[in-house]
Amino acid sequence: MPAPLLRALRSAWRRFRSRGIPLVYSARYQHGLWGAPFDPLRGEKVLAALADAGLLPREALMEPRPASLANLLRVHTETYLRSLHEAEALTRILGTPVSSRAAEAVFDLQRLMVGGTIQASRVALRLSGPAVHLGGGFHHAAAGAGAGFCVFNDVAVAIARLRARGYGERILVVDLDLHDGNGTREIFAADPTVHTFSIHNDDWSAVPAIASTTIALGAGIDDERYLATLRDTLPAVVESFRPGLVFYLTGADVAHDDALGNWRLSRAGVLARDRLVTELARGHPLVIVLAGGYGPRAWRYPARYLLWLASGRSIEPAADDDIALARFRRLHLPAGDRDVRADGRPFSLTEEDLSAVQPAYSLPPRFLGTFSRPAVELQLERVGLLAQIRACGFRHLRVELAADGGLGDTLRVLCDDGTRDELIMELRAHRSRSVVPDFEVLAIEWLLLQNPRGSFSESRPRLPGQQHPGLGLLQEVLAWLIFICQEHGLDGVAFVAAHYHIAVQSRRLVRLLRAEDEALLHALTTALDGLSLADAATAVAQGRVGTGDGAPFTWRPLTAVLPVSEKLTGRVSGEAYEAGVRRSSEPIALRLLPDPEGEAARHPDGPPR
Ligand SMILES: [Zn+2]
Repeated sequence: MPAPLLRALRSAWRRFRSRGIPLVYSARYQHGLWGAPFDPLRGEKVLAALADAGLLPREALMEPRPASLANLLRVHTETYLRSLHEAEALTRILGTPVSSRAAEAVFDLQRLMVGGTIQASRVALRLSGPAVHLGGGFHHAAAGAGAGFCVFNDVAVAIARLRARGYGERILVVDLDLHDGNGTREIFAADPTVHTFSIHNDDWSAVPAIASTTIALGAGIDDERYLATLRDTLPAVVESFRPGLVFYLTGADVAHDDALGNWRLSRAGVLARDRLVTELARGHPLVIVLAGGYGPRAWRYPARYLLWLASGRSIEPAADDDIALARFRRLHLPAGDRDVRADGRPFSLTEEDLSAVQPAYSLPPRFLGTFSRPAVELQLERVGLLAQIRACGFRHLRVELAADGGLGDTLRVLCDDGTRDELIMELRAHRSRSVVPDFEVLAIEWLLLQNPRGSFSESRPRLPGQQHPGLGLLQEVLAWLIFICQEHGLDGVAFVAAHYHIAVQSRRLVRLLRAEDEALLHALTTALDGLSLADAATAVAQGRVGTGDGAPFTWRPLTAVLPVSEKLTGRVSGEAYEAGVRRSSEPIALRLLPDPEGEAARHPDGPPR
């Protein structure tokens, strides 16, 4: 080989090496609340071991985003997701009593970890090599039930997402956690394109699957027996199944010193296992997730594996004291150098973090006193609102909830593109018995639906009060609000139309509360007939509508209702109401006054409008 080419290849190889093994991890993983003796610092310590060995280039580290509920729904049933909003459901899965605050923290953490496995699968496919998620491996979770600390099956969701995006090659899941990968096997039981391979101590379920290898070895297994079983089975599966992508659950609970395990694998035995799987998957995209491993020393197994993966050599991770020091250094790198979290704060403690470690600190806000944030998000997903917003180009959505004391609850949908938040939707609402006398309604104080990236144009002119163009999703929002009214037994939705165009835009669905207002709006639309909505709104805002005697008409905010109960429907559409509208219509005579600047605008030399 000519020397220059050789040099070029060597430098390309060094560049590749220096980028390190792609690692997905979030500092938020430290705040997990588990029923198991699970070391919350496991990922931190693995990173510190890599950094200590000089094998953690900054660009190798990636921050996951929480999986969307739309992705979770590709695997899990809606009924199951809804059940998780109650602390009791998580108590069953985790096997230990959890408060509602803790339940939400677990929900969020596992959801973030599903995002981590998705992220790792994306990178592994792009690089056609290994990518590591320092979390995940919730293999007991089935479509409609969680078990054994597993809420969402991250590997299954990542696979279902790839399938939805057209990835058609066969997928092999090598699950070498001590425990049975029963959830994953059940989810893909009828799918011949996903082979689930699991060697474990005991079977968790006997559900047969079309493409699977299930081997239960019992208790007390040592290196020899285990590695022989693995060598006898896995190479043949890889050979015959010919996967295009491999997921590997490198559970460390097979080790002799695991706090929960009942096997006797040595550290050399566990590393030999990891190397064997990696060698078999060489040349393939390989997604590595950590899965089980309990107790303060569990981190050393994945650390040993990744040190080997990153260097090609067997390196023993530094001693625990040194790792504590390496962690400290990692957290105190100079400002420009440290890993900045998605929220822009490098490993800072937030009020939220404190709440997570101290459940009594505060209760999570509930929309209208009832719906948790995940519950609201699930509703928005089911009415299709989030899908529509994503279709507008806003991919990474976040739903936030804030309880504002007596002011009502505020819901926000934001798009987080990694550098900043864009506000898409903001809704403040409360239950009210006073806005519409004799009825209890959902009173909307504020609703903003905007496309922060959109610009106004000839066909989408700026309407009064708008900072950005709308999204055209009012119908979806109203559909969701109707659902909320039904859930709460409320009579309907009420809001004040502060501008003419709002009253007109919502007119197909809502009625004005007072018959005389309905008559007034009818008279206005008649007077403004023939104008575009923007021109009509501008004419009203500029006071260019006059009464019969020429006096200018001034817009006043009108209360509008979207009736849900029969009682309120009768109130705004019954005979008495219609008679009221007819009675009020007669004395109203409105007409459009000439635009004083209209003439000038038609002349090129005139002042701009
Ligand atoms: Zn396990």
